Amino acid sequence: MSRGLLIVLSGPSGVGKGTVCNALRGKINNLVYSVSATTRIPRLGEEDEVNYFFKTRDQFENMIENEQLLEYAEYVGNYYGTPRDFVEKTLQSGKDIILEIEVQGALKVKEKFPEGVFIFLLPPSLDELEDRIKGRGTENQATIDHRLAVALDEIDLVEHYHYAVVNDQIDEACKRIESIMIAEHCKVRSSGN
Ligand code: 5GP
Repeated sequence: MSRGLLIVLSGPSGVGKGTVCNALRGKINNLVYSVSATTRIPRLGEEDEVNYFFKTRDQFENMIENEQLLEYAEYVGNYYGTPRDFVEKTLQSGKDIILEIEVQGALKVKEKFPEGVFIFLLPPSLDELEDRIKGRGTENQATIDHRLAVALDEIDLVEHYHYAVVNDQIDEACKRIESIMIAEHCKVRSSGN
């Protein structure tokens, strides 16, 4: 049985990665979603083990020490990381898995899985991105400013990705990602390529 595809979806805070992932859930059957661990406090409506595994810093640092994470990064004052076992088992079972993670972590995954498919989600414009971060209404001004500054640095790293998808309309962005997956499944992967 062939291994599944490892898909990494990154993009600046507020670009709509979560919304796009949720929309993809309804459209693509065999796609598994990796649930990350974080030390961030849950936002209203977020559930432990569904949106994230919410951890204390001590618990997270234990996971790092025990090599339970495929990658991790510190982002705007909190740790975020991908549980390793789940990703490896899913790929071995032949299913595709999508990781919705920020760029530092994505680059670490690329070192370990160069055969992965790396997709960067872009906002239609920077003004739109700022409006989306503010519109979420869950962060204070200092955090919004910090997230925007980080977002500008993140966008510079788009060249490390295989695909850039503009999230102008959710449905359109989803169609582009579905098309990328179809193409990647058709790709000839031989040692000579
Ligand atoms: P948020 O706090 O908005 O849920 O996430 C902040 C950032 O952390 C987002 O860019 C999100 O994609 C990223 N993130 C979520 N999970 C992980 C993870 O497991 N590893 C890394 N490196 N980044 C993550």
